[in-house]
Amino acid sequence: MKILIATDMEGITGVTTWEQVTPGHAEYARFRKLMTQDVNAAIRGAFDGDADEVIVADGHWNGSNILIEELDPRARLNTGSPSPFSMMQGIDESVDGVFFIGYHARNGTPNAILDHTWSSGTVANVWLNDILTGEYGLNAAVAGHFGVPIVMVSGDQTACAQVTASLGQIETAVVKHATGRFAAECLTPQAAQEIIFASAVRAVKRLTEGDMPDPFVLDSPVSVMVEFFTSDMADRATRIPFTQRDGTRVSFSVQDIASAYNGFRAMVMLAAV
Ligand SMILES: [Zn+2]
Repeated sequence: MKILIATDMEGITGVTTWEQVTPGHAEYARFRKLMTQDVNAAIRGAFDGDADEVIVADGHWNGSNILIEELDPRARLNTGSPSPFSMMQGIDESVDGVFFIGYHARNGTPNAILDHTWSSGTVANVWLNDILTGEYGLNAAVAGHFGVPIVMVSGDQTACAQVTASLGQIETAVVKHATGRFAAECLTPQAAQEIIFASAVRAVKRLTEGDMPDPFVLDSPVSVMVEFFTSDMADRATRIPFTQRDGTRVSFSVQDIASAYNGFRAMVMLAAV
């Protein structure tokens, strides 16, 4: 049983502001430690649920947030960027299940801490095969490409609800109740990590018993439509061949999500210049 823990930072215990998740700010040092602790709770739970192997992907910002010197030594860490699969680095057919730790809701969602989709200054909305989605959907579809289901998510109540609405009744660890974009009632790290641990144990057990929703598999060809905040962003994104433009929306269609994921990342990089 091999588990990939795909991590982000906005849904980590106690996080409510951009400063807490942005390198260079004094608060960031505290929260990367808390991120490492949330991930450790998930690793502990995975092994207690009888996983044999755990890989972690550090998926926030430039992928170098988790403190490797404090990480559970039974796991291995994918860190640094850009990597071929970004937030999902480490995914392949040998993985049995994926945990989303520290995830957040898609852009435009009420009562969701730091809601955004991939790039908070660039992307307003993303549709995959006409389904409005967030990072959870993009990343779940990459896992689905390899036949791997998402089995657990941690974050605020809104992120967890959005993920289960999209992927089915996977295990959830609600570590905070958002009352706005920058306000939440938060569990303390100790309490939150107990919930993450218990949820991870249950996720692996249910996976072993065959009691998990199917992987999120998109029909081929895969269409990606990105709505940018401004038209100059769309101007730059359409420099990529074979894209179509409608106002601030740019779309393209490719054979599978692995290529779609790369095309999406390329568009966002260009748009954000
Ligand atoms: Zn992030």
